[in-house]
Amino acid sequence: MGTMPKILLVEDNELNRDMLSRRLQRRGFEIITAVDGEKGIALAASEMPDLILMDISLPGLNGWEATKQIKRNRVTAPIPIIALTAHAMSGDREKTLEAGCDEYETKPVELEVLLSKIQTLLSRRDRV
Ligand code: MN
Repeated sequence: MGTMPKILLVEDNELNRDMLSRRLQRRGFEIITAVDGEKGIALAASEMPDLILMDISLPGLNGWEATKQIKRNRVTAPIPIIALTAHAMSGDREKTLEAGCDEYETKPVELEVLLSKIQTLLSRRDRV
């Protein structure tokens, strides 16, 4: 991993996407973005990001399905994925783990909480 960890943010909402991108860039991350699940899967394979932030509510393929496909591909399977969901619905945590996500964060995102989850997952990968 380089000095600037690369994060793929999959988020269809432009405002959320731009805001979170900027906040993470300010914290020293390189951010690439995808607006839907299909593009997210394609960019995961072509860009091999260090981590993926996956919105769950996406047009077309939702975040659960996109995550399953990324985790089904043995090349992209090791990339840690944090699911971002607007609803703290009961059962969401279970669905997250079932789909293969490594972590889960509810929106609106609390930056410090998200950053600590990102750092934990990135340091876990460094040791592999
Ligand atoms: Mn969305």
